[in-house]
Amino acid sequence: MSPETFSSLFLAAAALTLFARLVLMKRQIGHVRAHREAVPPPFAESISLESHRKAADYTVARMQLGTIDAAIGTAYVLALTLGGGLQAIHDLLAGTFATGSLAHGVALLAALGIAGWAIELPFALYRTFGIEKRFGFNRMTPGLYLADLAREAMLAALIGLPVLAAVLWLMGAMGERWWLWVWLFWLAFNLLALFIWPTFIAPLFNKFTPLADEALKARVEALLARCGFRSRGLFVMDGSRRSAHGNAYFTGFGAAKRIVFFDTLLEKLRPEEVEAVLAHELGHFHHRHIWKRLSVISAASLGLLWLLGWLMGQAWFFAGLGVSPASAGTAVALALYALALPCFTFPAAPLMSYWSRMHEFEADAYAARQTRAADLAQALVKLYRDNASTLTPDPLYSSFFDSHPPAALRVARLRSAS
Ligand SMILES: [Zn+2]
Repeated sequence: MSPETFSSLFLAAAALTLFARLVLMKRQIGHVRAHREAVPPPFAESISLESHRKAADYTVARMQLGTIDAAIGTAYVLALTLGGGLQAIHDLLAGTFATGSLAHGVALLAALGIAGWAIELPFALYRTFGIEKRFGFNRMTPGLYLADLAREAMLAALIGLPVLAAVLWLMGAMGERWWLWVWLFWLAFNLLALFIWPTFIAPLFNKFTPLADEALKARVEALLARCGFRSRGLFVMDGSRRSAHGNAYFTGFGAAKRIVFFDTLLEKLRPEEVEAVLAHELGHFHHRHIWKRLSVISAASLGLLWLLGWLMGQAWFFAGLGVSPASAGTAVALALYALALPCFTFPAAPLMSYWSRMHEFEADAYAARQTRAADLAQALVKLYRDNASTLTPDPLYSSFFDSHPPAALRVARLRSAS
């Protein structure tokens, strides 16, 4: 392939992906607005018109920001590749670090990471202090925001930089089959992260206290025993420090599993509803959804790393993405790949979303068997209402982006099960 052909292919893929995302978001905005004035019948008794309108406005506000974000993101990727931005960063750093050295590679990728973060920062700020605040969800103070940024930067430096260095070293030192070694390293790192996240990283950001409510604890423990599930403790997390959105989740695996409830979830739901939400989460474990996801992601990343190995041998890959063949190296290849790949993988989004929605239905069905389906339905309705999630998403938008089935479908299935 000639570099010009690959440039054209890449440009076409980037343009098509952006176009598809903009069309989908426009459809979502139109659909939500068209249904703003009427609560869908299944929710008419539990959700007021006022809450329904709020959910519509909240969805539209986030979509509008998403539209600008998508456009700027694409412009950024094109500026770094075809616009010669990556080449310029490469040359600039060559003044300080020897070209082709490990330090040069790590500096290049770190610079790219910082640039990407800086581009995203205004959007993140507006999301938190503009939209979330306007709709009454934000509880984050500017001070806490800065403290979070400092902690994230520290983690990125302490963990991210050594990982990047290790990957670049493996790519350079392991010969033709480096992609297999990088894959093994990546797998090991991910498994390690699963272990250290709950005990070392998450406590840097939130406080975890053992669940104190004895009645709820007894109820949850009875559910765990019924489901044959062992855990290393029930914790309440101070999610309310940052946001009014509620949630529950599991971390860790094996006997080290922890169950974490957001304090905001416990405030909103009755004990039997909390139990039903937890039963849904247990359903994900029962059906081994986490392991299935990890297997697919691992297999896909092995394929993608192999593909990168092949692309690195093709001169058109570098020249076609705006880097001179003389600057072609492991770090540049990794950077180009990370920038260009999402433009080509967008068509896979509906497949992954579909798979995820099937898992949600399976977990709901499990919860309906272990607890009362009506309690889960009631809990979901409260969460949709309090999180201002739209009840009327555009079906096509939903099929691309929604990891959870539309509210109406989930609740209808649960109501027919009870
Ligand atoms: Zn779920």
